[in-house]
Amino acid sequence: MSRSKRARAPEANNFVRTDVLARTARIFQILFVVALIALLLIFIGITQRNRALADAPSTRAPTKNAVAVLNPNAPLIALVAGHSGGIDTGAICADGTREVDVTTDVARRAKNNLEARNYRVEILAEFDARLNAATREYSPRAFLAIHADSCIFSASGFKVARAEISAIPQEEDRMVRCLIAAYADATLLRYHADSITRDMTHYHALGEINLQSPAAIIELGFLGSDAETLKKRDLLAQGVADGLDSFLKGNECK
Ligand SMILES: [Zn+2]
Repeated sequence: MSRSKRARAPEANNFVRTDVLARTARIFQILFVVALIALLLIFIGITQRNRALADAPSTRAPTKNAVAVLNPNAPLIALVAGHSGGIDTGAICADGTREVDVTTDVARRAKNNLEARNYRVEILAEFDARLNAATREYSPRAFLAIHADSCIFSASGFKVARAEISAIPQEEDRMVRCLIAAYADATLLRYHADSITRDMTHYHALGEINLQSPAAIIELGFLGSDAETLKKRDLLAQGVADGLDSFLKGNECK
């Protein structure tokens, strides 16, 4: 008995050990499965995040690169920086303000503004080589000469005009309307309708480009009475850019 008792004891111990081992193995098995599921979830999470990251730049890229990489097929806008590129600086006021500095700065800012909207923009000098009355080859989708009015204090406001004799009067009238509406909105200057001069309606450059290219000239305001507004160059550029954009989008601007 005592022998068999002694003999059973290890058996019982073995049985208990096997049971413990089996339980431990099952715990490890469960832990293994849980770890596997956790790893799988982490993997799915990373994959989805990577996919989202990969998608994000492709949707951001066009706006981010709009300024740097211009579409060669984008509509071309031409801006004349009035009185630039020559010895005539336009009006010079008592405080030293020169018309050419205003027109050049506004043309540059309007260019940046329009390029950010995916237009191509070329700034021309007053008597640019691209302007040629004999060939009239230059054919932008919109052409705007930028000038500013005299240093007087007896008048205030801006003006926009097209050529008196136009090959496309309806298109050019629409362009003038769009510019007037947008520029008034941006600058809060009033439209000085009564003083459109022959200098504007017979402005040289309007007859030196393709007559099918819609063209106009703007006087941004009076260097005298509108001096404070004319210092807000981004607003002036915004008005010019909004007007051209609205015209090129086909708005009637009534
Ligand atoms: Zn001028």
